[in-house]
Amino acid sequence: MTERLILVVEDEAVMRRVLTLMLHGRGYLVAQAETGQQALDRLRAGRPDAMIVDLGLPDMDGIDIVTAAHRDHRVPIIVLSARAEEQQQIRALDAGADDYVTKPFREGELMARLRARLRRAPQAARDELRVGDLELDVYARAVTCADQSVSLTPLEFKLLQVLAEARGRVVTRERLLSTVWGPERVNEVQYLRVYMKQLRRKIEDEPAQPKRLLTVPGVGYRLVPADQRRE
Ligand code: CA
Repeated sequence: MTERLILVVEDEAVMRRVLTLMLHGRGYLVAQAETGQQALDRLRAGRPDAMIVDLGLPDMDGIDIVTAAHRDHRVPIIVLSARAEEQQQIRALDAGADDYVTKPFREGELMARLRARLRRAPQAARDELRVGDLELDVYARAVTCADQSVSLTPLEFKLLQVLAEARGRVVTRERLLSTVWGPERVNEVQYLRVYMKQLRRKIEDEPAQPKRLLTVPGVGYRLVPADQRRE
């Protein structure tokens, strides 16, 4: 079975370390975020299997992270917070958290709740994606094109991943923008033009005449196997 990736969002270094060691000890992979912004960036780079989120973050309210993670990524979320008031718990659960554990917490209880969430959640799609001779290893964030390794920025990778997951279907500009840059950027179509151009330079033999990454005028883009060019 593929190892599960847990995103820990916690600004206190000691607590982050405790959680990381705890999770590693149980065979999970761990990604860490110290701030809300780091958490959002990490989510856009690829969906973890679950998140453990502290509500008191330096740059934003953890509730906003819960809202975004639930709405945009459907990640199972356990809130871990020193805020024990019922009102806070209700807010977190309303925002999309699946469970709420107050600090100080017992390791056994937190891990049992995490296991329960993971059992209910489908495994994040993050292994290999293949579109013709283009291969994405979503977990390692590695791409090869015709057996040549391709170096992509995190944003370029995420774009390519969303397109690859559509398995040849067109992905609208709005969906690409909101998934990769966030819902607040849904109208910034010029981002797409710039990034698609960069991507084509890296994965097309002739970027001006793309045969993998196709534009669907006025709608969006699709990623197809190179040999389907003249379908
Ligand atoms: Ca905190």
